[in-house]
Amino acid sequence: MLREKSAILAWSALLALLIVGAFGCSRERAPRQPSLVLVTLDTVRADHLGCYGDRDAVTPSLDRLAKEGLRFANVSSAVPLTLPSHTSLLTGLLPPHHGLRNNGAGALRPGTATLATLLAGAGYRTGAFIGAFVLDHRFGLKTGFEVYDDEIERDPKAGNVLEAERPGREVVDRALAWLEKDDGRPFFLWVHLYDAHAPYTPPPAWAARHPGRPYDGEISEVDEQVGRILEALRRRGLDGKTAVAVVADHGEGLGEHGELTHGLLLYEPTLHVPLLLRAPWAVKPRVVETPVSLVDLAPTLAGLLGRPFPGPLDGRDLSRALRSGGEPAPGELYAETRYPATFGWTPLSALRRRDLKYISASRPELYDLRRDPREGTDLLQGPSSSAPEARGFAARLAAIEASAVATAPPLAADAETRAKLASLGYIAGGPGSAGGPASGPSGEAAKGRPIDPKAMVDLFQRFERANERLTSGDARAAVSELEALVAADPANPVFRGKLGAAWREQGAPLKALPFYRQAADAAPRDPEAWYNLASALQEAGRPDEARQAIERALQLDAGRPEAHNTLGIIELGQGNLEQARREFTAATAIDPRDAAAFNNLGNVLREEHKLDDAANAYQRSAALAPRYAEPLNGLGTLEVERDRPREALPLFESALALAPGYHEVRLNQAIAHDLAGDADAALSAYRDFLNRTAGDPKFSEQRRAAQQLLARLEGRIAGGAPAERR
Ligand SMILES: [Zn+2]
Repeated sequence: MLREKSAILAWSALLALLIVGAFGCSRERAPRQPSLVLVTLDTVRADHLGCYGDRDAVTPSLDRLAKEGLRFANVSSAVPLTLPSHTSLLTGLLPPHHGLRNNGAGALRPGTATLATLLAGAGYRTGAFIGAFVLDHRFGLKTGFEVYDDEIERDPKAGNVLEAERPGREVVDRALAWLEKDDGRPFFLWVHLYDAHAPYTPPPAWAARHPGRPYDGEISEVDEQVGRILEALRRRGLDGKTAVAVVADHGEGLGEHGELTHGLLLYEPTLHVPLLLRAPWAVKPRVVETPVSLVDLAPTLAGLLGRPFPGPLDGRDLSRALRSGGEPAPGELYAETRYPATFGWTPLSALRRRDLKYISASRPELYDLRRDPREGTDLLQGPSSSAPEARGFAARLAAIEASAVATAPPLAADAETRAKLASLGYIAGGPGSAGGPASGPSGEAAKGRPIDPKAMVDLFQRFERANERLTSGDARAAVSELEALVAADPANPVFRGKLGAAWREQGAPLKALPFYRQAADAAPRDPEAWYNLASALQEAGRPDEARQAIERALQLDAGRPEAHNTLGIIELGQGNLEQARREFTAATAIDPRDAAAFNNLGNVLREEHKLDDAANAYQRSAALAPRYAEPLNGLGTLEVERDRPREALPLFESALALAPGYHEVRLNQAIAHDLAGDADAALSAYRDFLNRTAGDPKFSEQRRAAQQLLARLEGRIAGGAPAERR
């Protein structure tokens, strides 16, 4: 009995153990929920990494990852532009089918499935950490992400906000902080590193390692940041249950085929990208040779995580072939760029089948990439005609284009989303090298006289250099180069717009006016064109015409914050403080991250003697754009008005450190010293201001004030009566 009892006890104990064991076992075996880390390296061409054969590269982290997983030897981007390519990469759709075909234009259609929506739906924690404004949440890739960290500081004075970026180091800092907040759910982390995008300014240590090759210095920096992510995974013991994919959105021309950067042409330097994939439970380390497309990535990653990607899709799920250790079946690889259409040139598309690659253009090309990886011998120009093959490619490309969805429609018109779309208008200076809005009616200029972009590479290079000069403050050189470009391609709307911008930058808005007028006449329904015209008219001192133009811009698109901002400046110029405040308030309500509008609002509030409200507005502006001198100057003037001149001095000091050419601050500084009773400092500050502004008509009024104040101070020092009474 006793034995029986103990046997029963033993049996039940065993049973309990078994149940526990079964639980334990089922936990082990339960559909695993591997996590996913996706790192996108902007503008990194494959052949500049060590693991892709560049012996001079310093890319140890990526090289190690390549050894630990799959290295895809032949991956092709579907489009050499950041926003369209990332959209393809996350949706598995080609640009004609997701609709985002240029940077800065449109938004992803609501309801489009992405890796993030798929994994969020499966209970994943999802976070995205973005390196550049070009992927701002307003363009729609935020869908499915619980956290979409795109807090990128914008320079309120920059011509092209699309180029605003932040260092990869900061992006990774924030991504790793998010990773630490583990809540037990599997996670999907996307990190976007923009550093390798032009301009190439690697940190000093990497610049020194790559003398004369700043692009490679940037790639080493990017590699270091990837290394930090991999190390964090290892330290947390996540290596075995986290898929890691590192991929570039497109490459970089670096002068090959005449292209310095990317977006204009469809040759391999900008299409051939690296792809490294580590998923230890599913794939053994090796090299995959079959050419595949970036659109294959999303369905393949989903397949490796055991979650089929919902269709219809352009990309293929390659996970079965990858798990089995075989090569995927070859597919056809499509690529396009509509960026040339912005310039009035023909857009391009390309199709690759095995080794043959066809590029559709006014003068189409056909290359055998195996024999001729540098695309130097166009088979359509050779003696043995490949014309029938070319016709097959052309027909297929035409069919793909015919299946294109309409350009992505604006987001739903509730106030917040409309506001986001509207703030696209920040692109005031016309598109830069990163790609601009598709404001030009694509292909329209090409209707009469098709212009093949590859015939325009010289002009395009000169344009890029002129743009660089303009950005670096050499407007005079930019003007003369752009005048030559306008003469060479008179119908090019971008050249004309940029010349207008260069004249404005040089302080000659009157000269900019004809170019902006032509642009507005050519595109009367383009709010951007009216906005540019209005800004130039306002600067040229023609407020009534400026008001007409800006009202036209607001009729076409009432939600443009920068149009409200400009209207506010016009109102202010005519002494209408209340209307000005209303416009600046509208601008900040539409885009709560518009540092310029907050600064302007601060100025009005100061004039209305609402000092606390003014201080709040300036502080918002300064927080949004820490490198912006104006709000610091504003805060300084508030201190002076509050009779605290000494508190103002460090603010003026900071403003000048940021903008040494902002001479108004020097006058304010002199006044603060004067009021604080520091005569010597005030004297030298007044004189400094007068010396620096000598002969500049822009400062004539302020110079008069400074001269009076200086004379009065000198009089006081001499112990006599104030100078003006003598
Ligand atoms: Zn990019």
